[in-house]
Amino acid sequence: MSDFLQQKFGLRGKVALVTGSSRGLGLAMVRALSAAGADVIVNGRAAASLAPVTAELAATGAKTTGIAADLGQRAEVQRLIDQAVAWQGHLDILVNNAGIIRRAPAAEHSDADWDAVLDVNLNGVFTACRAAGRHMLARGSGKIINIASLLTFFGGINVPGYAASKGAVGQLTKALSNEWAAKGIQVNAIAPGYMRTDNTAALQADAVRSKEILSRIPAGRWGEPGDLEGTVVFLASASSHFLTGQVIAVDGGWCGR
Ligand code: NAP
Repeated sequence: MSDFLQQKFGLRGKVALVTGSSRGLGLAMVRALSAAGADVIVNGRAAASLAPVTAELAATGAKTTGIAADLGQRAEVQRLIDQAVAWQGHLDILVNNAGIIRRAPAAEHSDADWDAVLDVNLNGVFTACRAAGRHMLARGSGKIINIASLLTFFGGINVPGYAASKGAVGQLTKALSNEWAAKGIQVNAIAPGYMRTDNTAALQADAVRSKEILSRIPAGRWGEPGDLEGTVVFLASASSHFLTGQVIAVDGGWCGR
């Protein structure tokens, strides 16, 4: 990497935590942050799903560790952030990526589905932001990147809890940015478009919906997890120090249509 790229985009000496990085978008983002030089913490619910990821990253010479925690439980989120900070003594980058979706029409949407989605996608995100934010405020620097959705802007179909949670993630991002921008912390969100992961397996398998979705994406294809790599590194880097409170859609042009 040239000196310019290292200075503007390099993450050497930084510690990054990506929640929900055992697979899917989180895995792509933790790989990218590691490749850009950050020491990375991999998270998911079960330690067994983290070991292959940390082994892969360690084999490249990267410094990495796995911390299992269920983001649907506030006490677990607090423990995750405490352990993340304790690992190298500081936490510079928090990517709140872990998220779940439950599909059922609103009239049949159960309390259990609603609560499960809101617990992980919103309550877990706020708890992580608050805990990491206190640490970052004390240090006067930090990057928080929340993973939003196109359903931060649109209502979706048959996913009322998911749409409500992701709409709230967009507003939370702005609320935290307003409080913390002058204190050296940038808070932004990435809104991925329709990406090929387990999260969208039901949509990909539905021939009608899948065709409808594809026909509306100007880029003419579904997104791949690797499509988020550059954006997450940029938002974690020195190049984005004056960029905060934004929800950036990485969607193959969907929002512009
Ligand atoms: P995914 O393939 O289903 O992966 C979800 C990740 O979150 C896994 O690593 C999973 O780890 C982790 N996770 C789930 N529940 C958790 C919990 N309670 N505690 C800790 N980790 C948990 O999903 P994805 O498509 O990569 O989605 C990642 C994020 O992007 C989500 O917030 C999703 O809403 C958002 N998003 C996705 C798309 C898309 O098209 N795929 C579009 C817009 C936004 P374990 O199973 O190992 O615990």
